[in-house]
Amino acid sequence: MPRLTTRHSSGRALCGTLAQRDIESLIAEALAAGRLESAPAVRIARHLDEAGVREAVLEGARECKRRGKGDTVSVSRNVFIPLTNLCRDRCAYCSFAVLPDSPEARTYTIEEVLDVVASARRAGCIEALFCLGDKPEIAYRTHRAWLAQRGLRSTAEHLTRACREAFGAGMLPHVNAGVLGIGEMEALRPWCASMGLMLETTSRRLRRRGMAHAYAPDKDPAARLRMHREAGELRIPFTSGILLGIGEDERERVETLIAIRELADRYAHIQEVIVQPFHPKANTSMGNVAPLSTGTLAAWVAMARLILGPEMNVQAPPNLATDALELLLRSGLNDWGGVSPVSLDYINPEAPWPDLQELARRTRAAGQRLVERLPVYPEHLLGRPDLFDPRVRRAALALADRTGYARSRRAGAGQAAA
Ligand code: SF4
Repeated sequence: MPRLTTRHSSGRALCGTLAQRDIESLIAEALAAGRLESAPAVRIARHLDEAGVREAVLEGARECKRRGKGDTVSVSRNVFIPLTNLCRDRCAYCSFAVLPDSPEARTYTIEEVLDVVASARRAGCIEALFCLGDKPEIAYRTHRAWLAQRGLRSTAEHLTRACREAFGAGMLPHVNAGVLGIGEMEALRPWCASMGLMLETTSRRLRRRGMAHAYAPDKDPAARLRMHREAGELRIPFTSGILLGIGEDERERVETLIAIRELADRYAHIQEVIVQPFHPKANTSMGNVAPLSTGTLAAWVAMARLILGPEMNVQAPPNLATDALELLLRSGLNDWGGVSPVSLDYINPEAPWPDLQELARRTRAAGQRLVERLPVYPEHLLGRPDLFDPRVRRAALALADRTGYARSRRAGAGQAAA
């Protein structure tokens, strides 16, 4: 097909195989229908490296976000607790997981969790984000022994105790512990405000030899989709997400976003979708793989918004694109995720969190308004009581104002829930 050259109404040139009118009509149809469907999404995605196409997608996504979320962008003041950095998987891009004999190997005791929680409370944090490796007890005898010394059979049992203690100390736990079974989620639910698992990708291709998930059985898309469904059956507010730049192609990205949307449609439990770029780590086998450009990242945030529709909470982590926050604010996101004043992003320790005041200033400069949220969103907390254990909901409501956002950052989780 010959490449076309056309012009935007604003006068910007649009070069590519899709004419400006084609793109604008696909996006207008998506806005009218409330969502971008798979076939036009794949069609657009193949041209996202063209400046004019990208700009049209950003404009459409911004309008879609405005219809569902107005000028609000939220953030959760959290503390990141890496309960264990042991993991049975070996993702080719991961520097978080270490071997048990590494000097950096660490599993937090309950006492250590409570120490972290106490300092987080003093800093006004509400969310205790428990992020950890997946089922290390299957791979490591030493970890099984560590658990057994404490009367525990699994990391999930240890996590449940940690969440119970953190909740008792006034925090609202959010759990991201890899693929959990339905019984494990059931045990966690009375102590957690929400749970999550990045779907990452539906591509089974990435499990082949030489690909990012070749040695990561828990990255089997079927297992991850199953956990999403089971969380829906248990009525758990659930965070999902897509990981970009790990070897997937445009069609697979669209398929992943559509799969998340289908789960959200079926169970109405998906509270947010993270659009996360792969961030290369020097000590990993993907250390030399180029990351996505910020323009491509923003374009895929915009695609996620258009595919998922105006009501979904779409999040991009600000520490992975600190020089492009203004661009991301034009891409239809309405959430920055968790930002911690007291802890690292242990998954991406090379990427410090932006200061919250600076984040508020830059959000405001882009014509939007930063608000602090809990690890659940107002529409779920206020409108979907069935998604919560009643005790967790009471604690969350005590921390929220009447709009469902965090009552006051100075109140902090501990002070309000104690
Ligand atoms: S990315 Fe997650 S599942 Fe993969 S090795 Fe790291 S901790 Fe384990």
